[in-house]
Amino acid sequence: MSEKKLEQKKIASVKTFKKIMADHFLQIDAAARDPGRKVAWCTSVGPAELLQGFGFEVYYPENHAAILGSTRTATDYIPYANAAGYSPEICSYLTADVGAYMQGFTPLTKVYGIEKIPKPDVLVYNTNQCRDVQDWFMWYSREWKVPCVGIETHRGVGAVTKVHIDSIAGQLQDLAGKLEKIAGHPLDMDRFKQSVELSRRCSELWDKVLRAGTAVPSAITFFDGTIHMGPAVVLRGLQVAVDYYQELLVEMEARVQNKVAAVAGEKHRLYWEGMPVWGKLRNLSMQFLELQTCVVASTYCNSWIFNQLDPDEPFESMARAYTELFIVRSDAVKEDYIARMCADYRVDGFFYHNARTCPNNSNSSYGMPQRLTERTGKPHLVIDGDLNDLRCYSEEQAKTNIEAFVEQLAQAT
Ligand code: SF4
Repeated sequence: MSEKKLEQKKIASVKTFKKIMADHFLQIDAAARDPGRKVAWCTSVGPAELLQGFGFEVYYPENHAAILGSTRTATDYIPYANAAGYSPEICSYLTADVGAYMQGFTPLTKVYGIEKIPKPDVLVYNTNQCRDVQDWFMWYSREWKVPCVGIETHRGVGAVTKVHIDSIAGQLQDLAGKLEKIAGHPLDMDRFKQSVELSRRCSELWDKVLRAGTAVPSAITFFDGTIHMGPAVVLRGLQVAVDYYQELLVEMEARVQNKVAAVAGEKHRLYWEGMPVWGKLRNLSMQFLELQTCVVASTYCNSWIFNQLDPDEPFESMARAYTELFIVRSDAVKEDYIARMCADYRVDGFFYHNARTCPNNSNSSYGMPQRLTERTGKPHLVIDGDLNDLRCYSEEQAKTNIEAFVEQLAQAT
């Protein structure tokens, strides 16, 4: 390795990113303290557009839990939720978030001066990603005595049929009836449709940003994506997210045009399957940088692309968008998707993060890595770890295995 100090390629739009994320949290904090405004909690792939149609300020606790992870405070608080009967084996977003609440802690205090997480008027989930989100919201529902409502989605779906769409669209319409009582007024259809339209535009732009990873050398890394996906998660449905991704896309397109590499001297290209290890993003990113290996694409960052959304059919298109999602699908559909991504992004190998507390978003336990390697001819590496619970992650072991894997890639070229 060269003696020259390696530096991560900085994304200039990060300045705007920081501002709009700060505004988001401060706005929700203000709404939670204002008796005239209403706050809804929403799961990260929940019905945000519908909530915006009712004028709720929307807060996403998974984002808060990921901040607990990336600030490496999650592991300190997980045991408090464990002691209350929430197993160390279940979602460490849930356990970190509930444990931190029990101890009166939020990383938002240090970052934004916000004293506590916003108390909601309603908690709204979609089980499309897992059952844990429902259990998580039910905990707060009991704690604060506020209603918890949601959508129960089919899982392991192969072809998405009219039966699925009708069922979910019907649930969304029922949900609108319940939300009307909580909001105290009917759904504003114009606002709802506008939110669906803005969400779709946000998705299309985010998709294009991520596709800067198809360039050789890649203009973006998975690690950049885990940061810059924030607005697609928490601000979709709002103009501010569309504006942000327009700015970021201009920057990415300029990089592609000028062949600016996100990883200097890119030699190998990988696909990341599974959750990020939030507390080790920087270390992993630096290791791949040193190895001149770019993680060019991931299932995770692509999970907030909802190009199916259509304001002319808001309920049906939401049902489709939130059911065609990768995490909802059968292994056969998931394998076809990853094989397509492998070809589009010209990857040399697959990296699977087997997250201990999220089997829902880990796809290495039922032979998928082996089947995809056989199908594509590309090798794979599985690393055991976790999204938030760093007790499940051995950094030394991961480091050694990654080095050996990249060595294997080098020998194959
Ligand atoms: S998908 Fe995984 S990480 Fe996300 S809420 Fe569910 S269990 Fe937790």
